[in-house]
Amino acid sequence: MIRQTKPREIIIKTIERAEGPVAVEEIHARAAGELPGLGIATVYRTLKLLLAQERIAVVEFPGEPPHYEPAGRGHHHHFRCLSCNRWMEMGERGCIVPWLDGSILPGGYLVEGHRISLYGRCPNCADEVAPPG
Ligand SMILES: [Zn+2]
Ligand SMILES: [Zn+2]
Repeated sequence: MIRQTKPREIIIKTIERAEGPVAVEEIHARAAGELPGLGIATVYRTLKLLLAQERIAVVEFPGEPPHYEPAGRGHHHHFRCLSCNRWMEMGERGCIVPWLDGSILPGGYLVEGHRISLYGRCPNCADEVAPPG
């Protein structure tokens, strides 16, 4: 018996396997590779459902459409590769600026959080532009 995989399972897997937060168009492109004929409307509907179930979370980057990542990953940062345009999760390193929440700021400021994204080139793309040797 062949069990048909539901779009929901493929979409959640696509988001879990991604190197970082992904936008709707990218989720659609990747998921359609496994489920040909998958419509973008189904992707939107499924994302809404997964958000309501708190299985995924929205990540907002200024000037960009919403991106999605699995929920519950805790505080972490993202890296944008300016060459392949992917967002990557720097999750395994946790917070990159722990001192920001300390007492280094001028008196009177109480920091309760921060959002910082890094920009540059990912290892794959940095290899391509690096001089030989
Ligand atoms: Zn890259
Ligand atoms: Zn942090």
